[in-house]
Amino acid sequence: MIRIAVVVLSLLAAALPAGAQERIGVVASFSILGDFVRSVGGDRVAVTTLVGPTGDVHVYTPSPRDAKQIADAKLVVVNGLGLEGWLPRLVQSSGGKATIVTVTKGIKTREADKDGEAHGHSHGDDEHTDPHAWQSVPNARIYVANIRDALIAADPAGEASYRANTEAYLAKLDALDRDVREQVAKIPPTARKVISTHDAFGYFADAYGITFIAPQGVSTESEVSARDVARIIKQIRASKIPAVFLENISDPRLIQRIAAETGAKIGGTLYSDSLTAENGDAPTYIDMVRHNIRTLTSALAG
Ligand SMILES: [Zn+2]
Repeated sequence: MIRIAVVVLSLLAAALPAGAQERIGVVASFSILGDFVRSVGGDRVAVTTLVGPTGDVHVYTPSPRDAKQIADAKLVVVNGLGLEGWLPRLVQSSGGKATIVTVTKGIKTREADKDGEAHGHSHGDDEHTDPHAWQSVPNARIYVANIRDALIAADPAGEASYRANTEAYLAKLDALDRDVREQVAKIPPTARKVISTHDAFGYFADAYGITFIAPQGVSTESEVSARDVARIIKQIRASKIPAVFLENISDPRLIQRIAAETGAKIGGTLYSDSLTAENGDAPTYIDMVRHNIRTLTSALAG
């Protein structure tokens, strides 16, 4: 009997890839957090992402498969600040015992600007808070440190590995932050004004000194009124804003219309709330920030 049990166990172990039986199951709410978790967790974690590449995390309808993934996970990594309004119900319905890790803990949040407050439809206590904190690279450092601490708490045996991965990744983020500042310095100060679709770049704007103006508030759930569009068009003309930008998660037609009416050129696509698939322009967070700053400088520095 014992011999049979041993044989069955060794067959089970053989069926799994090396080390897989020890992997920590982590669910990340959207692709950017999934990339951070992979960077810190390395081989010790198995990461799944609920809102995948080019998905819109503001307005997401979870599937039964998502509930199953949460039920099986040890950690669920979320942004918080009202971004994932659909998540609490999903976690509750999953019945799992995963620890929820809010990775914006310790971040100095910014208020949604006046327009975001007027039109944003985010949820609960976070109604007036801008959730897009990851768009500032110094904030990404805090996300990564929170993920490191959560992984160490969930898997103390992996502490050395998580610390080493984090140090290596933070060094890359520091280099990225320096590069963004160097690139911004190439844009004439009077040209550091950008129109984007929804108000997703407030933290980027605060960190790097570029003004972003968006017809839509901090959530893509909000409706854009004719008045909002008229206001933006007036602003583009008054401030001689040279370029407007599309977003990977938003309908391009609004920005195309604004460009047509003002004569501002379309400077390209910015990645705000989502990474791309592996073969796209921004499969990782670092690629995303590099793509965005390259797009901005090539449209504004000329
Ligand atoms: Zn957003």
